[in-house]
This record gives sequence, structure tokens and C-alpha cells, in this order.
Amino acid sequence: MKILIVGNGGREHALAWVCLRGAGVSEVLVAPGNAGTATEAGVRNVPVAATDIAGLLALARAEGVALTIIGPEAPLVAGVVDAFQAAGLKCFGPSQACAQLEGSKAFTKEFLRRHGIPTAAYRSFTRADYDAAWLRAQRAPLVVKASGLAAGKGVVIAATVDEAHATVQEMFSGRFGDAGATVVVEEFLEGEEASFIVMADGRTALPFASSQDHKRIGDGDTGPNTGGMGAYSPAPVVTPAVHARAMREVIEPTLAGLAADGMPYTGFLYAGLMIDAAGAPRVIEYNCRFGDPEAQAVLARLRSDLPALCLAALAGELAGRTIEWDARAALGVVLAAGGYPGDVRLGDEISGLEAAAALPGKVFHAGTALRDGRVVTSGGRVLCAVGLGARVAEAQRAAYALVAPIRFQGAQYRHDIGHRAIARGA
Ligand code: AMP
Repeated sequence: MKILIVGNGGREHALAWVCLRGAGVSEVLVAPGNAGTATEAGVRNVPVAATDIAGLLALARAEGVALTIIGPEAPLVAGVVDAFQAAGLKCFGPSQACAQLEGSKAFTKEFLRRHGIPTAAYRSFTRADYDAAWLRAQRAPLVVKASGLAAGKGVVIAATVDEAHATVQEMFSGRFGDAGATVVVEEFLEGEEASFIVMADGRTALPFASSQDHKRIGDGDTGPNTGGMGAYSPAPVVTPAVHARAMREVIEPTLAGLAADGMPYTGFLYAGLMIDAAGAPRVIEYNCRFGDPEAQAVLARLRSDLPALCLAALAGELAGRTIEWDARAALGVVLAAGGYPGDVRLGDEISGLEAAAALPGKVFHAGTALRDGRVVTSGGRVLCAVGLGARVAEAQRAAYALVAPIRFQGAQYRHDIGHRAIARGA
């Protein structure tokens, strides 16, 4: 059977790579893919954009694709799963209605409040009903969020109420385009963040191994936020007790609430959680897809057959199943282009990939393209080098050994991925 992966990042390279191992999988197509998927045996890139829903449908029909897995949020928010379903094609991901969990922070906050699921206290505003007096009565720091999709950039942690007020005004004035027409202002939560990712079949959630990513560009968690500069799995902050609470207090009531609201959730569901000192989880955000770079670290540990699990989820048959994991830890280091997360230079040749390929672990491609048979940079986050080891510290050594031979103009990466886990002795 043929599998189609939609997207062109490191997450999609990792998805394609694990799907190749699925029982009965003859070929994996990636639309549009990158240089990593282009050069993976058994994988074929097809030049259809991830947001071209009609093009993806036509491709799936023409190639007789048995299962499509959507990587990024944009096509999900645009309704790609509904379109595939209407055409009688199997497509793993949430419906457009469910994808609002990522597409609208105002929707998510109202949903969480209504169903009693723990999250930061908040209010949401449009320009017409903005209550500056309420905001000025709050205690700083405050977190100000553009409600819509803002490519991970629409969140500002304001140190003072004046800064929060100014940020709200900027968002209303179009700093994040339409995404800022509605703004959420919420309480600042203390604790340690963890990524809690599950796959869901409408009723039942099957949890993936825990992970943690590093959002800031600089060592020591400094500098601007990015899409993610590295990740590791498992995350020691997610102890068995925290895991049980996250399932019971967050994931299960979320699936039950969505089903009760008439929109059962099928697909990957990513909860960004803040875990406080007592081990209580609160929802910071939901994503309606696998995280990137969490996917690269988590999927490097996957032993189970992912296409079979996705097909079981689409049939509503996840209950009673389990996922098997490599007992080792995995750690991924993102190599980004010069200037990232701002404007980046593109088209620089990447060397050292063959030397890295001879080492244990795996280098997943993200912003790469083939030009005259050479691999060149084509995006902000370029590669993610994933190492495995008995402990996070050993996985970290293996990952940086993969990074060492790789060169391109302006390359930047963090040198401390996994520092929190390693400080905990993992
Ligand atoms: P989001 O796009 O909602 O994940 O926010 C981006 C980042 O901002 C998160 O990964 C957190 O580090 C931080 N953040 C968001 N909301 C809060 C909050 N209520 N309290 C503390 N930090 C937050």
C-alpha cells in the first residue's frame, strides 16, 4: 500500500521514515517534501503544496493512496481531512472543526473553561469589547496571545501591565494580521513545560512517549522564540504520576468534551503543558498535529507500526492497543540557517551529510532542497540531528557527534539541548 505524507519539514521526514517500516507499505509519497525525503530509498516527493487540498485529493486518487497523514496545521485548519472524508479517502488528522483547538486560542480557552480542564485564567477581547481597566487591574507578568495562527510567533510575555496593554493594541493594529483580531490575555504560569502528544480515534487516546522541546534560539534558553531548536524524549518532568494526571485531567476530558460537543477528535493531539512544582498539569496550548522537532525525537524511538495505528484510529479501534518504544532516550539538535528566527539566507550548500550518515542516529531534513544534485538550505530550520543513548546525556553526545561534520554558511545551533533533563540526572 502507498502512504502519502503531507508537508515539507523535519516532522514529515520523520513520519515518512517510520512509515517505510509499516507492514505492507510499498512506497511513501511526500507532498511536497524536502531533500531528505527526496533521497530516502522507498520515498518519492511529489510537487503538490501542503495547502493545495484539491491537488492533494487528485494525487491520492491518481496514486491509489491507502492512507494520508497530514503533518502541518495549515491544511488541517483549512479542512483537508473533511475534504478527504467526503471523497471516501482515509486521511489521518482532525476535522476542520477540531483543528480550531490550534487555529483559535479563544475557542480553546472557552472550551477548556466550559469543560473544567486546567489552564491559565484568561479573558479574550476584540477591539470592540477590549476592557483596558480589567487589564490594568491584573498582576504582571501577563501573557498576551494573538488568537489565530501566527506561526508560533503570536505570544508575548509582558513584564508589566503597560507592556501588556501596548501589545494588545499592536495586535489589534495588525502586527500578526488577522490572527490578532481577537486577543487572549492570560495569567503567567510558573513551572516546567512538557509536550504531551497522543493519537486519538474519536474516543480513545493512545499516548506517545513524552518529550520536551527548546523554544528559544540561544543557549541557556535566551533570545527570541523559534519553532523549536531541539527536543528530547523521554522528558523526566513527566513522571508516571504526572503522566497519569495529564491523561486523566487533560486528555480524557478533552476527548470527552469534544465528543459531547459533537466533534469527536481523530488524529495527533499535542498538549503543551505547564507542570507546576506539585506535578499538576495545566494546558498552555493545543496543537492539532505532531510537534516539530518533538516528532523527530519521539519517532526515532517508535517500535510499533505507525500506518497500522493510524488505520486503527480511523476505524475507531485504538482501545486496548499499546505503542512500543525503544527504551533508549532520543535527542534532536536543530541546525538553523543564519539569521533565524528572523530573515534567513537561503541556497547555501550543505556539506558533511555523508559523513554524518555513516554515524549512528539519523539526520532528518527540514528546510533543504536539491539543486543540481546538491543539498542546499531552503528554510529557517534546516536539519535535525537525532542521537540515541541509554540516557539523555548519551543521546546528547550522539546527536552532537552527528552535528560535528555538517557545515553550511551561517549555520547556528544550540549547544545545550537536553540541559534540564541532564541536570535531573537523566
Ligand atoms: P504558545 O504558542 O501558546 O505555546 O506559547 C508559546 C510559549 O509561550 C509557550 O511555549 C510558553 O513558553 C509560553 N507561554 C504561553 N502561555 C503561557 C502562560 N500562560 N504562562 C507562561 N508561559 C506561557
